[in-house]
Amino acid sequence: MLSNVIEKSLRIFPILFFPISGAKECFVGLRRLGFRRLGLHNRGLHHIGFTALLFSAATFAVQAPDEPALVCEFDGVVIDIDFEAGNIESCHKSKNNNLILGVSPEKTPINMSPWYAFRIRAESPRTLKVVLKYSEHSHRYKPKISADGVAWAELDASKIKLIRKNTMASLTLDVGPEPLWVAGQEIIDNNFYRIWMQALGQRDGLQHTLLGKSAQGRDIGLLRTVPGEQRKAVLFVGRQHPPEVTGALAMQAFMNRVFAADELATSFRNTFAVLMVPNLNPDGVAQGHWRFNTGGLDLNRDWGPFTQPETQLMRDLLLDFQRPESARLSLFLDFHSTYEDVFYTQPDAIPISMPAFTETWLTNIEKRIQRKLPGFKINRDAAHNPGLPTSKTYVYTTFGIPAITFELGDNTDRRFIRVYATIAAEEMMSLLLTEA
Ligand SMILES: [Zn+2]
Repeated sequence: MLSNVIEKSLRIFPILFFPISGAKECFVGLRRLGFRRLGLHNRGLHHIGFTALLFSAATFAVQAPDEPALVCEFDGVVIDIDFEAGNIESCHKSKNNNLILGVSPEKTPINMSPWYAFRIRAESPRTLKVVLKYSEHSHRYKPKISADGVAWAELDASKIKLIRKNTMASLTLDVGPEPLWVAGQEIIDNNFYRIWMQALGQRDGLQHTLLGKSAQGRDIGLLRTVPGEQRKAVLFVGRQHPPEVTGALAMQAFMNRVFAADELATSFRNTFAVLMVPNLNPDGVAQGHWRFNTGGLDLNRDWGPFTQPETQLMRDLLLDFQRPESARLSLFLDFHSTYEDVFYTQPDAIPISMPAFTETWLTNIEKRIQRKLPGFKINRDAAHNPGLPTSKTYVYTTFGIPAITFELGDNTDRRFIRVYATIAAEEMMSLLLTEA
């Protein structure tokens, strides 16, 4: 295994040496590779891969013709993006010795979700200025740092300086021989979903199956209740948009509550088949995309056209619910992130099954949270993008049921997200059980 990893690392980490001309800046790093993350999906292997990287840099200063460098290396400082979600477009050193990292989307035009993620280390401990330079839009995601890619903290605000109308962000980083991960949000990669769903799938009454494959052949998993006597069903989807990590955190807490072993959740799952597809865009997650899948499409504008392999899987899953012998789909939720916490819903005035559900559910959540946070108000937008082929519009139009997008703010307190999503799950279960 180890030799295999090192061999891959040697293949995918060629190092480029550019001659330093008379120019004030020298350019070292280059554009991303389509195949840069082959075989290195596991956190443990990341460290091995990184060791192999240094080994390869020292030993094989050779460049295969079509393999641009992933890394820039200056004065004993090494930057790489060889992990899922890693994405930096380019790297060079400015005249005052700052490292300038180019941050670019997979395609333009694109929504303002300028994702970045890289790893940095230095031969000897030092404090460095690393500047994110956005080719599109401006700085949005507050930098998070991690020593292991698993536990994350916000970079202290005093170490972030926004410049040139926020199109550049200067980060002051304390770097040493151990790698430091820096990313726009905590990284939740495909491996996380695999482990999470496998663990859930081993519980009584639940099963983890393969819904299908992404365009690049990654697994898109389905976690569901074992088909049984339930005559109704609920469906949850997440991660259509790779950088929307707070939505993913909410989905984890929400689903863990729905799949819990207590009386409420057990009773709920005995009445409602529960299906979740928490990671619909695994290619975008792996590539560190800002928005799209590898087909260059916003998946949440493809529910209806269904031109992409990922959304086609959802179309086929939904078709199952139209068979007369199937459990009847009652509710659909899609988890996302935006600038604030908000529920995008259908307007109360339009015909819908369970006409009171949305208003009652959100009011019940609000009341529960007000016990801890007096004055708390749920933010609801009942007229968001009604004409676009989004998941919620497609599911509402096809089934006439409440189909709701649950959006979490980029900067919402992570402990609050867990509480909020857990309460939302409990109130959903209680209310659906009374309506069942
Ligand atoms: Zn989104």
